[in-house]
Amino acid sequence: MLTKRIKQLQPSQTIALDTKAKQMQATGINIINLTAGEPNFSTPDNICRAAKQAIDDGHTHYLPNAGIEKLRLAITQKLKRDNNLKYTPDEVVVGVGTKQILYSAFQVLCENGDEVIVPTPTWSTYIEQIKLAGGKPIIINLSPPFKLKSTDLAKYLTKKTKIIVLNSPCNPTGAVIEKKELIKIARLAVKNKIYIIADEIYEKIIYEKKHYSIASLLPEAKNYILTVNGFSKAYAMTGWRIGYAVGSKEIIQGMITLATQTTSGTASISQYAALEALNGSQKPVQKMVSEFKKRRDYLYKSLKKTKMLDTMKPEGAFYLFLNVKRMLGKKYPTATAWAEALLEKENVAVVPGEAFYAPGYIRISYATDLKTLSIGIKKIKRFIKNNL
Ligand code: PLP
Repeated sequence: MLTKRIKQLQPSQTIALDTKAKQMQATGINIINLTAGEPNFSTPDNICRAAKQAIDDGHTHYLPNAGIEKLRLAITQKLKRDNNLKYTPDEVVVGVGTKQILYSAFQVLCENGDEVIVPTPTWSTYIEQIKLAGGKPIIINLSPPFKLKSTDLAKYLTKKTKIIVLNSPCNPTGAVIEKKELIKIARLAVKNKIYIIADEIYEKIIYEKKHYSIASLLPEAKNYILTVNGFSKAYAMTGWRIGYAVGSKEIIQGMITLATQTTSGTASISQYAALEALNGSQKPVQKMVSEFKKRRDYLYKSLKKTKMLDTMKPEGAFYLFLNVKRMLGKKYPTATAWAEALLEKENVAVVPGEAFYAPGYIRISYATDLKTLSIGIKKIKRFIKNNL
């Protein structure tokens, strides 16, 4: 009875494991859950207050499908301030989280059979959304340190290539694409008339490096680039469901038209909250990022010398991507089997690399407090020792 489209859809494995861990927790087992894709901080107070004020002020009705003018203006100001990008409010669309914004972008840009290049390891949502839009995902398997270079792309370009997906800093690896490579990738897009969807949702969660928006690096590439971003990670606003895209008027108008027949935009209250997130104090963001950095350093230091693991220091986001290939074999043939055994034997939940098109790896989220992390590390080390 279900359509082929839905039958072929792979449910999010990150959510699946998190659900399993939560089910075990509900039966009384104390789970160390290192699967989270969201900050363990509360949404900053000033943002919550703005939302309450929005209700009191009666902002509880339908709004423009593109998002409220004030918010779209604040987004353009943010882009100028942080990313050296010049856009006008009519080149901005606000939606129900970055996930829905991406869905809309693929629906608007992808014709049946169009090829969309996705470097892996990757967040699997891109692949599923490309398929839903009738596109064909073309996977490029990157090697450690998983930093995309323009030369990686060249051999995958065909006449059917329509879009390249970039995610920097990257979920799950934390890798950041180098500025010089971004410029080369932008040139390649212009030369071959290919669009770039740049998912910059982790831009604020970056440590030693500086974030560059690819659309700011080559003026002639601007019309080929759709920059997407959101509030979930930087402002701990995952539940508010709000994200946005900026790009050429034509693409943005296509996305707004789709919104008029699907979502009618996102919640009014979330939009006023997001307005405060951008215009209010940025101190809570800095505090969260410095806390993430402490945890990253602690986690990396604790695991880098662990026998049987290869560990890379993440440059951004809040994940550590570990190579567990040397531990795979008869007992645990895949990273999924390894992660399931870790959950059953040590009650530690991590996400296996298969969820990111990267078999042989696991992702540890450090969007959790240091105490939980330190217990988790001890348990992971014990699991490794017991399985040598
Ligand atoms: N893009 C990436 C790379 C992500 O990891 C996530 C969430 O995990 C999202 C987008 C979605 O964020 P949102 O909550 O804004 O839909």
